[in-house]
Amino acid sequence: MDSPASDRVGLATLVSVSAYLDHAASTPMLPIAIEAMTAAASQHFGNPSGAHRLARDARRLIDDARQTVADALGADLGEVVFTSGGTEADNLAVLGMAEAGGGVAMCSAVEHHAVLDPVVRSGGVLVPVGAEGTVDRSALAGLVKKHHPAVVSLMLANNEVGSVTDLHSACAAIRTRSPDTVVHTDAVQAMPWLAVDELASAADLVAISAHKFGGPKGVGALAVRKAAATIRARAIGGGQERERRGGTQNVLGIVSMAAALAHNRAEREHTNHRVMGLRDRLEGELLAAIPGACSTLPLDAIRLPNIVHLCLPGVEVEALLVLLEQEEVYASAGSSCSSGAMEPSHVLAAMGIDRELAFASVRLSLGWCSTDEEIDLALRVIPHAVARLRNHRERDVG
Ligand code: PLP
Repeated sequence: MDSPASDRVGLATLVSVSAYLDHAASTPMLPIAIEAMTAAASQHFGNPSGAHRLARDARRLIDDARQTVADALGADLGEVVFTSGGTEADNLAVLGMAEAGGGVAMCSAVEHHAVLDPVVRSGGVLVPVGAEGTVDRSALAGLVKKHHPAVVSLMLANNEVGSVTDLHSACAAIRTRSPDTVVHTDAVQAMPWLAVDELASAADLVAISAHKFGGPKGVGALAVRKAAATIRARAIGGGQERERRGGTQNVLGIVSMAAALAHNRAEREHTNHRVMGLRDRLEGELLAAIPGACSTLPLDAIRLPNIVHLCLPGVEVEALLVLLEQEEVYASAGSSCSSGAMEPSHVLAAMGIDRELAFASVRLSLGWCSTDEEIDLALRVIPHAVARLRNHRERDVG
């Protein structure tokens, strides 16, 4: 794309540091999680299912980690099942319960694909959401009464817009109409920021993923409380994880995840406060600097402290991301296209966001190591890039 020289000079001179604004996709590992992984790698190699001392050492490591995860999820030690991440935990919850319960699966229309796809493939039912990105309570009540599902899955916090679901009242609405229905919650995005042990205490199944809170990729967990005890394993073989997930455990990943989780919980209040300050500055100043920009969620909605999701009318977000990357600002499209179909994200569509606006939306997500300097850079670069794209568009149209 050709641009006026003043644009190029303007953008090029702005950059002194990079700004990583994609923590909801994955956040850097915490130093303490790297240390825990390295220490375990150099000292422990036994198979945790074995019988001898070296095997027992490895088992002790994952059992200590299991206690840390159980505490964070408000679960008992024996209720924690380690998995290869959030996707596997969600798949296990939905498909394992649908199979065990012999009924349909149901979920909100804004779930992550790790929940949505198994529900859709198993012929399940989607529950509409409102403009705040959370499930429509009366639709939920009606559909539960009609279908008596084996499992209902409602995410605690949404990965695109950051909306937070009141699980206590949703669970109450479900159980009044269908006492045997099991409730699953995907707490993958909530875990870094919210007290999942309290907010998800009414759910029977809770999924988390380590790489969202400073642990490594490829490891996660599912809490399986008593009401979901009949869950059917998907990976079968060695009988690990109390027959709920066969396969030798990822010892290094599990140990590292627990170290990240313990640190995250100890620091959460402080981190949240700091990150929310950065988020408010980023959001407020972008809204003020970019004509026509608006927040996808109402600013007073209950939402995560780290996500800014903006609609930028007249901006093609893919082009914006390219310009931002040139300035070392890394963000995500607010509406990802699935398999080249050029469909707006199912989340924004379910929230009733106009298709064109959905393609003009951006997600900027902060994390534990976000800094003032990164926000400064983003605030210098983003309004400038938006103006540049809009100018081009006007020229093209004219
Ligand atoms: N659920 C939510 C809400 C997510 O944001 C993600 C990842 O982005 C997942 C599930 C999948 O987790 P994983 O990447 O560990 O498979």
